[in-house]
Amino acid sequence: MKNISSILLLILLTTFIACGQQPEKNSIKTTTDMKKTNDYWKDKLSPEAFRILREKGTEYPHTGEYNLHFETGVYSCMACKEPLFESQSKFRSDCGWPSFDNAIEGKIRYEKDSSLGMIRTEIICNTCDGHLGHVFNDGPTNTGLRYCVNSVALDFGAEQKNNK
Ligand SMILES: [Zn+2]
Repeated sequence: MKNISSILLLILLTTFIACGQQPEKNSIKTTTDMKKTNDYWKDKLSPEAFRILREKGTEYPHTGEYNLHFETGVYSCMACKEPLFESQSKFRSDCGWPSFDNAIEGKIRYEKDSSLGMIRTEIICNTCDGHLGHVFNDGPTNTGLRYCVNSVALDFGAEQKNNK
């Protein structure tokens, strides 16, 4: 009798383990592929945004719309509209470009840039490969970082307030 209950228990246990296994789900890529050609972007972007985002240009300092802009909201990539920076990480900087001490995780790619006789870290939109600017280690806040971003490469969305 004891043997039978042991066998029953074993069967039950085996069944339970088998059921507990999750069927393997096919991982579906939900992100749309925004890695487009320059011809595609030429149609979508202003000439100045194209020059900066696609040809790694730099806007004139102190000219950008978001240089001294301190509203609450989110700064997105001008090309693919993916959120990149939150307004709470933006700080007042004298460098002439919008400056942030941090980026939204996973949105930015970093590449070594040795152009113009300097070694800098280029920041690139991870979603569409657009050039955004550079990141430096001389930030004044506790992150020690200063993301120096071309205003033209950014699009700002104010935080939605529910004033119903
Ligand atoms: Zn982008």
